[in-house]
Amino acid sequence: MTTIEKFNDHVMPTYGRYDVVFNKGENRQATDENGKNYIDFGSGIGTNSLGFCDKDWADAVSAQAHSIQHTSNYYYTKVQADFADKLCSATGYSKIFFGNSGAEANECAIKLARKYSFDKYGKDRHNIITLVNSFHGRTLCTLSATGQDVFHNYFFPFVEGFKYAQANNIDDVKSKLDNVCAIMIEFIQGEGGVIALDKQFVQDIKKICDENDILLIADEVQTGVGRSGKFLASQHYGIMPDITTLAKGIAGGVPMGACLANEKCANVLTKGTHGSTFGGNPLACAGGNVVVDKVTAPGFLDEVAKKGDYFREKLMAMDQVESVSGLGLMIGIQLKTMKAADVSAKALENGLMLLTAKDKVRLLPPLNITYDEIDKGLAILEKILSE
Ligand SMILES: *Cc1c(COP(=O)(O)O)cnc(C)c1O
Repeated sequence: MTTIEKFNDHVMPTYGRYDVVFNKGENRQATDENGKNYIDFGSGIGTNSLGFCDKDWADAVSAQAHSIQHTSNYYYTKVQADFADKLCSATGYSKIFFGNSGAEANECAIKLARKYSFDKYGKDRHNIITLVNSFHGRTLCTLSATGQDVFHNYFFPFVEGFKYAQANNIDDVKSKLDNVCAIMIEFIQGEGGVIALDKQFVQDIKKICDENDILLIADEVQTGVGRSGKFLASQHYGIMPDITTLAKGIAGGVPMGACLANEKCANVLTKGTHGSTFGGNPLACAGGNVVVDKVTAPGFLDEVAKKGDYFREKLMAMDQVESVSGLGLMIGIQLKTMKAADVSAKALENGLMLLTAKDKVRLLPPLNITYDEIDKGLAILEKILSE
């Protein structure tokens, strides 16, 4: 029996998978069962920030596995204290709740916002505005928060209290402010097609939030930890949300999610109001410490921004490319006539791993990708696009 047959016999069919089995990866290259190599422009959906099995990262996670792998949150660990301290220094936030995924980080943010409002204003002020075309996760609550009708199916009843406003339409936001405790946004809608919000719209939202004591939640699960060329995408917009959620790339490919709160929101979730058995797991924190150290090292983020520009310039020179969106190493490619899914499948056959988002090809390469690897991957892409 092949690996794929065994897999499909016993794993639920919730994903569309390519017929490739990966058991090994090194830096920005993975090797399949048959020994064929692939350049990675996807990072496992933006999680492998430092590529496959970065030496320092693997050493830190292994060393942690040999010291203590888990304690539960009834006790303290040094590695979690270090990680929280590093993340707060890198971002300016005051306190963090650790979970294991983006959805879990967002659940925490939503609970925090509702409790903040409950404590101050009582029980009715519980609504949360999210944006049309957003994506916030797959749990029932974060599916409800997700502003795309296709996700609001099968699983009724959904969690109540979400209202969807049009992106870049501040009047639409203003018309939905009844009993609202928070507004939740992605600065660059990732799953929605790598679409950045207008700066003015974001600043207008921030102003509405400040004037009405509404919390601003930034879902930076995809955009955070250096992906955009700054540590947080909010820095491109010149604002600091009350709450920021992180996951995907934060720990270099081990499960980790974090909900970061400013001073005002730091002590809203009190003893017994929230929790997660694996949250802040030492192995994940050990991986996260290496990621944050490397991403905040002098010059690293400038390089991410420069490599993003390099990608954009090369991509725009390709005939089949209509436009390129996103920031830093979060890149959406609108093609003129070819279908993104076809291009992605062909790229894999030719040894290049890509992602798609809606009708775009999406690139989330490892943040430490080299120019040589970018050139090699783009040569494969160019060949496919000119066929
Ligand atoms: C991926 C993603 C999520 C969900 O993260 P999971 O780790 O899959 O739960 C939430 N929000 C955004 C913006 C994402 O890109």
